[in-house]
Amino acid sequence: MQVLKFGGSSVANANNINRVISILQNAAQKDEQIVVVLSEFGGITDTLIEAGNLASMADILYEEKLLLIEHRHLDAVRDLIPIDKQSGVLSRVKKLCNEIEDICKGVFLLKELSAHTKDSITSYGEILSTQIFSAKLDSLGINNTWKDSRQLIVTNSEFGRATVDFAATNRKVTEYFSSAKPGFFVIPGFIGSDKNGNTTTLGRGGSDYTASILGAALKASVVEIWTDVSGMMTADPGLVSNAKIIQHISYEEAMELSHFGAKVIYPRTIQPVMSQTIPILIKNTFSPGDEGTRVHNEIHNGNGNSIRGISSINNLALLSLQGAGMVGIPGFSKRLFEALSNAKINVILINQSSSEYSICVGIESMFADKAKEIIDDTFSYEIETKKVEELIVEKSLAIIAVVGDKMKNHPGISGKMFGALGRNGVNVRAIAQGSSERNISAVIAVSDVKKAINVLHEEFFETTYKQVNLFITGTGNVGGKLLAQLQH
Ligand code: ASP
Repeated sequence: MQVLKFGGSSVANANNINRVISILQNAAQKDEQIVVVLSEFGGITDTLIEAGNLASMADILYEEKLLLIEHRHLDAVRDLIPIDKQSGVLSRVKKLCNEIEDICKGVFLLKELSAHTKDSITSYGEILSTQIFSAKLDSLGINNTWKDSRQLIVTNSEFGRATVDFAATNRKVTEYFSSAKPGFFVIPGFIGSDKNGNTTTLGRGGSDYTASILGAALKASVVEIWTDVSGMMTADPGLVSNAKIIQHISYEEAMELSHFGAKVIYPRTIQPVMSQTIPILIKNTFSPGDEGTRVHNEIHNGNGNSIRGISSINNLALLSLQGAGMVGIPGFSKRLFEALSNAKINVILINQSSSEYSICVGIESMFADKAKEIIDDTFSYEIETKKVEELIVEKSLAIIAVVGDKMKNHPGISGKMFGALGRNGVNVRAIAQGSSERNISAVIAVSDVKKAINVLHEEFFETTYKQVNLFITGTGNVGGKLLAQLQH
């Protein structure tokens, strides 16, 4: 069993969908049952969200967005499927579009868009794309079954980014597939349902996660993520022109890199398959001959480097809680983290010096003002009695990280990293390294990110030898000896 997932750009139009079908026909030569997970037709999720938001502001323009969505899908049917086979799928598409319209009308009248309703609206992107894709396969006489992932993937009710109930999900998936016939199974990514049958979503980009959840439950031989780039790269190619494809990467390294800038796969994708050592293959729909990136267990020497990639997160704010009153007194960090957690603010980086004079926490910039308010409130007594100072907030910061399993027990990496940054005038505001030694992170100014990543890429990935074009005239005694030496 293989699981293949195709992202939004891979199914954005009829041309691309035809590419996907030829990739699937290739895959079918190896396996009898193939699970195909699809994203929405590229961009539709955003348009659905825009429609919902406009409706919630009682802006009638939401109707235009819905019209765009309907036309895009009806056009896709007309482009993909012969006229005599269109009627069934056209009426299904129309019916689904009417359902979206009904929900948005309710949002418009109530001027209210809950996370629950938003999930119902966005779920239609994947339902529509898979319905049309399945009809296309039918029209070609390719044996396939459309299966609603809401009947397979069970989640909690955290709308917008639901948590999967793996025990219940695995039970449903194995039960369904144990009696399934050979052929393709076309399944919408991104969506699930809670125990009351409400539609939930797995977070933006969550279709990758759907593929990996199904792959793990089915003990698939491979989970292939087909996208529009040829794999994970040593750095963001938008920032580093010499960035290279990473051919082999461990689960842990891929997890570290996917959390940072290398947004080729959705971070939660790695976890379900990792425990079963099922490989993930990242491939390019638009260049299927490229080798891609293989995420797996065997550590290859790869590029011979001790690091696998460099990445960054922008929009970081650094919060510093400091004061002499904290030194040697237990409980301050507990209260700080509890306050952040109660406000649902995610902590990206933690740092405390051994003097215990300050605790430094990195969070997303958008939460900085809220964090300041709640932390100053939590420590209001200590601030008043001058045990600690008011929270210091610094914005416009970024984290750059070098990632690699082989950094462990390999001295000199951090020296090399900070040496290169220092020589190039990049000021480091904070440093963090986990004891797994798989990631060294540095907090720097956003304005330094491009320079810092290029400097580090050059240091770790690009040869330090300079190419010299040598022209020799006459190969007498000296010249001959020189050429002989060069040959060694
Ligand atoms: N359609 C969803 C999104 O755009 C999920 C996905 O494509 O992976 O976020």
